[in-house]
Amino acid sequence: MTDTVTHRLPMILDEVEAVRVDRISPSYVRVELGGPALADFGVDGPLYDQRIKLVFPPERGTPSFAGVDESWLRSWWQLPVEECGPMRTYTVREVRGTGRDTRLVVDFVLHESDGASGPGSAWAAGARVGHRVVILAPRRGHAFGGIEFVPGRAGRLLVAGDETAVPAACSIVADLPPDARGAVFLEVPVAADVQPLLAPPGVEVVWLPRDGAPLGSLLGPAVLAHLGAAPVIEEPVEVDPDLWETPSYSSSGEPVEDGRAAGGRGVQDLYAWIAGESGVVTALRRALVNELGMDRRQVAFMGYWRRGVAMRS
Ligand SMILES: Cc1cc2nc3c(=O)[nH]c(=O)nc-3n(C[C@H](O)[C@H](O)[C@H](O)COP(=O)(O)OP(=O)(O)OC[C@H]3O[C@@H](n4cnc5c(N)ncnc54)[C@H](O)[C@@H]3O)c2cc1C
Repeated sequence: MTDTVTHRLPMILDEVEAVRVDRISPSYVRVELGGPALADFGVDGPLYDQRIKLVFPPERGTPSFAGVDESWLRSWWQLPVEECGPMRTYTVREVRGTGRDTRLVVDFVLHESDGASGPGSAWAAGARVGHRVVILAPRRGHAFGGIEFVPGRAGRLLVAGDETAVPAACSIVADLPPDARGAVFLEVPVAADVQPLLAPPGVEVVWLPRDGAPLGSLLGPAVLAHLGAAPVIEEPVEVDPDLWETPSYSSSGEPVEDGRAAGGRGVQDLYAWIAGESGVVTALRRALVNELGMDRRQVAFMGYWRRGVAMRS
């Protein structure tokens, strides 16, 4: 690992290494990533669901970022994956330390036991102190994007997701003001994956361990029941693996300013942030927007992964 930052890109792009690795529960490995480049890590405001990119070691070669500029970055992304390494998206669960001792905590879901491995999960399963990855993350003082939790003046919050969204949801809850009101629903593979989570008194946290039940079968009905709707979720026929519907971006191309009245019964004054497997999120989106009449400006629906599909960078 280089000792100093060797380029002036408006983001952190460098190698970092695992400085601590903990198997925190059956489905999660928590890795603290450290390195001199992280001294410049910073966002303008709360972290909320700040996403980062991690690039796992390529089959050939060792990355070097000395003197790189944005044109280099664009060509690097076009290299075959064997040369640049597979890139995946993760969440900053927490920032620890300061200055050159800054560490970013990343909670990786281990999904090998589902019979579907991937480079991210495999790296985390074998991670040891000293193992390296390349990180793309916000550099203090520069716009990076990657925070989708924007509740504005909504009076009530709904945060819901599966195991991949737990790191983001926990970070969002940690950053809520003490007078926040709302509910958080988190579906995890097994009861032992439930984490201690301190929320403001007006925010109810409901953990939904599947313990063998099908993915998404608890989350959808729990969210709908909370909103006073019939807890029936229809399996979507078509699913966009890259589902991303926020006020600032629509993967389906839907207009955000749809002029719809601001919410039907049960969803007035509500802001909803929902992330997880794309099919599960698609079904919830349909129920909340089409059936309950939620205003598209008051939602963030994000496919964090898709069953049977390896994520692209
Ligand atoms: C904004 C954002 C933030 C995210 N934050 C996190 C985070 O903090 N922690 C985290 O673990 N993930 C997070 N994810 C999800 C993560 O990027 C995906 O799960 C990704 O597919 C993992 O890459 P992989 O290399 O392990 O598997 P891939 O190579 O992408 O996929 C290989 C196979 O594994 C399956 N698969 C992928 N993920 C899962 C899973 N969770 N359970 C079961 N099967 C799976 C795929 O369907 C595919 O069949 C986030 C995604 C986004 C978009």
